[in-house]
Amino acid sequence: MSKVLYEKDIQKEVLQGKKVAIVGYGSQGHAHALNLRESGYDVVVGLRPGKSQEKAEEDGFTVLSVAEAASLADVVMVLLPDELQPKVYHESIEQNLEAGNAIAFAHGFNIHFNQIVPPSDVDVFIVAPKGPGHLVRRTYEEGAGVPALYGVFQDVTGNATQLALAYSQGIGAARAGVLETSFQEETETDLFGEQAVLCGGVTSLIKAGFETLTEAGYQPEVAYFECMHEMKLIVDLLYEGGLENMRYSISDTAQWGDFVSGPRVINDETKERMKEVLADVQSGEFAKGWILENQANRPKFNATNAKENQHAIEKVGRELRELMPFVKQSLKSKQKDVN
Ligand code: NAD
Ligand code: MG
Ligand code: MG
Ligand code: MG
Ligand code: MG
Ligand code: MG
Repeated sequence: MSKVLYEKDIQKEVLQGKKVAIVGYGSQGHAHALNLRESGYDVVVGLRPGKSQEKAEEDGFTVLSVAEAASLADVVMVLLPDELQPKVYHESIEQNLEAGNAIAFAHGFNIHFNQIVPPSDVDVFIVAPKGPGHLVRRTYEEGAGVPALYGVFQDVTGNATQLALAYSQGIGAARAGVLETSFQEETETDLFGEQAVLCGGVTSLIKAGFETLTEAGYQPEVAYFECMHEMKLIVDLLYEGGLENMRYSISDTAQWGDFVSGPRVINDETKERMKEVLADVQSGEFAKGWILENQANRPKFNATNAKENQHAIEKVGRELRELMPFVKQSLKSKQKDVN
């Protein structure tokens, strides 16, 4: 079994006295910057003018341009949207990396797919929290953390691994446990997971269930509760104690239905499709499509997004959530600085 490391296994000294530039102050950026500072590290924030800049200044950070921050820092953590990273890197970061500096990422996409090719005289590492930035922050404040993967792409100082570990400690991830990976593994598993299971898989499953019920004449409100609202309650049980814990909590009727009908919906045929998704991730086919989509100004992304927001489950969901004040508004509208 791979070795999970915790705070006690990590030397903080390698990062102490070094200046860390957090580039971007969105979901991950604000969490990394605040947690690192509270862990005793020296942080500056690199941004362009805008909403994020105001927020970082309100939080008491020195905010510099990306170029200034990169030039001042020993360690540059790039927390910009993945699709903007190559441009900002080429314009403002590359020329400000000195020999022996480190550049770091929270997702391996741009390094793995060669959209960013760092100079050969800097360390390159990844610390990828396995959870949203707002949870990275909230769990840290609660004295806990979100687990993370760490890995090294290029080690010129001989310290890159220790640096990645100290960084994981600084954001609180080592309280929950950190696991070594490679840029390739992190990138491919992250993309596969969000496409086949967490985001693509779950939204398609929910919509298909909702459509099946409403097309059979059941009330959309009832279908919404069954297929969307209750999902969170089930996922919480899975998160806390796996399949067994979830099945312990549901009725035996539900559990029997799980056993007999789950495999009728998701089965070897579905798994074949998942293998195709994974193959597209591994071959770079998915990456190429997403890079070109961005170059074309996202015609398909925007059209699909508009259509999805009009789905019947979204309409009924908006109305029902109005009536359920205990269901808190999502992070998106509260916190996320969309570019
Ligand atoms: P985000 O969209 O929440 O934030 C991006 C930040 O970059 C914002 O502060 C924005 O103002 C700033 N920015 C945008 N364009 C800029 C420019 N040209 N110059 C300077 N600043 C600019 O991004 P995010 O979701 O935090 O993602 C950052 C990285 O973290 C990505 O690599 C992503 O894959 C990775 N990641 C994200 C999550 C998550 O929970 N969102 C989880 C794991 C890994
Ligand atoms: Mg520098
Ligand atoms: Mg992920
Ligand atoms: Mg991802
Ligand atoms: Mg039920
Ligand atoms: Mg039970």
